[in-house]
Amino acid sequence: MKFATKAIHVGSEPDPATGAIMPPIYMTSTFAQTSPGETIAGYDYTRAGNPNFTILEKLLAALEGAKFATVFSSGLGALSALITTLKHGDKVVGVGGLYGGTYRLFHQVFSRFGIEFVVISPSSVEELDKALSIHPKWLLFETPTNPLLEIFDIEAFVKAGKKVGALVIVDNTFASPYFQSPLRWGVDVVWHSTTKYIGGHSDVIGGVMITDNPTIKKELDFARKALGVNPSPFDAWLTTRGVKTLALRMEQHQKNAMAIATYLEGHAKVKKVYYPGLASHPRHDIAKKQMYGFSGMIAVEFKLSLDETKTLISKLKLFTLAESLGGVESLVNHPATMTHASIPQEDRLKMGWSDSLIRLSVGIEDAEDLIADLAQALA
Ligand SMILES: *Cc1c(COP(=O)(O)O)cnc(C)c1O
Repeated sequence: MKFATKAIHVGSEPDPATGAIMPPIYMTSTFAQTSPGETIAGYDYTRAGNPNFTILEKLLAALEGAKFATVFSSGLGALSALITTLKHGDKVVGVGGLYGGTYRLFHQVFSRFGIEFVVISPSSVEELDKALSIHPKWLLFETPTNPLLEIFDIEAFVKAGKKVGALVIVDNTFASPYFQSPLRWGVDVVWHSTTKYIGGHSDVIGGVMITDNPTIKKELDFARKALGVNPSPFDAWLTTRGVKTLALRMEQHQKNAMAIATYLEGHAKVKKVYYPGLASHPRHDIAKKQMYGFSGMIAVEFKLSLDETKTLISKLKLFTLAESLGGVESLVNHPATMTHASIPQEDRLKMGWSDSLIRLSVGIEDAEDLIADLAQALA
């Protein structure tokens, strides 16, 4: 079965009791047992499991070409659960460009429980090997990254990670399962914030961990139950509903993003466009090798001051100023004052995040309207 067919059919059969085409929402905290300890369908309490979780898990595992998935209350809830499979003294190597909340979770929470988080920015395989010589339990990275859409070579990173016996974990949120399948390069765990492209409508928060490893699956299910980081059945249902159109949405996100990136690259007020689909992207070849498409996220640096950049953003009508990404509507984000404001300006500049950098989450509106909106704001 191909992706778009799986997105519609896997996990969702017509309800045998009523024929309902769409699965019911099992808004129940608990389940009747036939005799003590004997459940009817394997469910006893919704913190531990619910039919709406199972439906979404089957679906997301299939879309990543994996055996197992466990859904959580949020992306960070999912990561928290996975981190609790580590123990005091364990090391994690993270590659620079991760989601801001990922750093916060390690640095401000789990460091207090003795999990050591080492952030690296390797510029060669040799540097990566050297950084991994501390024998971390995990190698964690994101590709494409936030906000500069850097691309890392998944195959090369997996090779380096396996050499030191590290579990390799990829945050696949920006690409979505439609444009990138990290498991096919040997990645152990794929992580998504389903809040973004997977849910796709900016109306629900959720997360998932996906793996072929039955031990990890068991640990994740245990962690969800033990920590209480389960989604609500309604949220799982809503996310399942969103996934049905994932293929269509991703095609349109990418088509619009490509048109906008090309337009911006030719504009006199633009200093630089960051989009993996452009031939000018330094890792365009690697993106082409490991991705099926380039998704809908763009970063743009203007030849403008901070105040001029703020004015430009305030003139946009179709791009709403907001954090988050991956919904049907276009959003604009200003890293220097929003998502990355907590980072000192000096450090931001070192990372290449200037005051005139904006990030666009390109929606699925008509590309002509989006380009016209950018054109009037730039004028
Ligand atoms: C949003 C996001 C997360 C965190 O997910 P939540 O659902 O907000 O907890 C993690 N990684 C990336 C790349 C994200 O964009």
